[in-house]
Amino acid sequence: MNKFKVRFAPSPTGPLHIGGARSALFNYLFARHNNGDLVIRSEDTDLERSRREYEEEILESLKWLGINWNEGLQVGGEDGPYRQTERLDIYAEYTNRLLESGQAYYCFCSEAELEEERQEAMNSGEMPRYSGRCRHLTPEEVETRRAQGEKPAIRFKVPSNRIYVVDDLVRGRVSFDSNNIGDFIIVKSDGIPTYNFAVVIDDVLMGISHVIRAEEHLSNTPRQLMIYDALNLKRPEFAHISLILGSDRQKMSKRHGATSLIQYREMGYLPEALFNFLALLGWSPEGEEQILSPEEIISAFTLERVAKNPAVFDLDKLNWINQQHIKQKDHEELKSLMLPYLQQSGYSKNIAKLNKTQLDLLVEVLRDRIVCLTDIAKELEEFFALPQYEADSLEVLQADGVKPVLEAFITGLPDFQETAEIKDFIKTLTKSLKLKPKNVFMPLRCALTGKSHGPDLPYLIFIWGREETLRRIQESLKTC
Ligand code: GLU
Repeated sequence: MNKFKVRFAPSPTGPLHIGGARSALFNYLFARHNNGDLVIRSEDTDLERSRREYEEEILESLKWLGINWNEGLQVGGEDGPYRQTERLDIYAEYTNRLLESGQAYYCFCSEAELEEERQEAMNSGEMPRYSGRCRHLTPEEVETRRAQGEKPAIRFKVPSNRIYVVDDLVRGRVSFDSNNIGDFIIVKSDGIPTYNFAVVIDDVLMGISHVIRAEEHLSNTPRQLMIYDALNLKRPEFAHISLILGSDRQKMSKRHGATSLIQYREMGYLPEALFNFLALLGWSPEGEEQILSPEEIISAFTLERVAKNPAVFDLDKLNWINQQHIKQKDHEELKSLMLPYLQQSGYSKNIAKLNKTQLDLLVEVLRDRIVCLTDIAKELEEFFALPQYEADSLEVLQADGVKPVLEAFITGLPDFQETAEIKDFIKTLTKSLKLKPKNVFMPLRCALTGKSHGPDLPYLIFIWGREETLRRIQESLKTC
């Protein structure tokens, strides 16, 4: 059996969107699961909107997500070039074949004429489609008009009364009536081929076995099938994966928040969390487990488990998945992920003063408190901002019997080396003062932070160190 080969063929007209990333991921998973190959190429025939910077950004996004490929852009291969604009000679060969066999023809209709035709069809309640006006031009007429400098497009002659059937690996059998499809342009008047034509030639010449792409391309599939058949080319298998909807069940758009993958990186999501989340957008593993590593997903991924119904983009779920991946991270790895966020925060000076044990503890405390790495900035305020005594804190601090608690804390606080010593000290203090734990913890918290809620006190104290802790308590005594 030949090796499976799939491809992801983005148009470099913008950043990589969530939908594109999901298509790329499913192709990658399918390739890796089956020991097949993944090709990445660029559909850059929209000359006005395509940009090399977008291509680079898309490839960067794919790599960040953890997708690598065997062939195509950046890595090369035998079936290149991998940008459509660099393959124009190749397409021309196939265009000529279609022209010579009478399956394609030159079309001189202007935009204005086509628009008029569309309007007429709409006015009479018919589905607008090309009338076939230029089908019957004689070779002499074509020659004369070209000699006069007119630049024709090339249209594919759609066979009439044919049913095109695709046995889609996700959607099942889908049939299309050729009578609903007008002759379509395969090469524009500027000589650039259209998507439906170029994609077929690329898929055939690159030996693509499975076309896995978004459902919105299902309606393009009959046109592509016509090209395969007209050129006697072997069709690949098709798998169209469902739309991604926002939480309001409308098509995912900017209204639903960030739509490009890079934005999620900037927001501090982990690539393996997005990998996990995107894989679950339309695919599900057999078991209940939702938190999966890339390797686990690769080994479980099959097209049979890809759902037909639309996937819903649920930000709460992404947040939860991200948190779980943060929870599972090895300490050193998490620390190096956090460091840039710690060092670029408004508290970089405080961070620079921490010794290794304090920094390690901070990393571990933050692990349980953040959803995304960008939450670190806000969290650090809880650790390092100087107390602004809130009304409820002042009330606690000004209550009878609080001052002696704070004074006893100052007198007794040992020169601690670990958090356990701090915990033990507060416990002993509570006992000796014959108070309930709450009546010691609360005044201490309010004195030290100015707030009645926040990270665990012994952790805070350890991260500050003895000197800073005592300074804060002294300061708070002024309010008592
Ligand atoms: N360039 C198309 C897109 O970005 C790819 C279509 C295909 O995979 O056939 O949606």
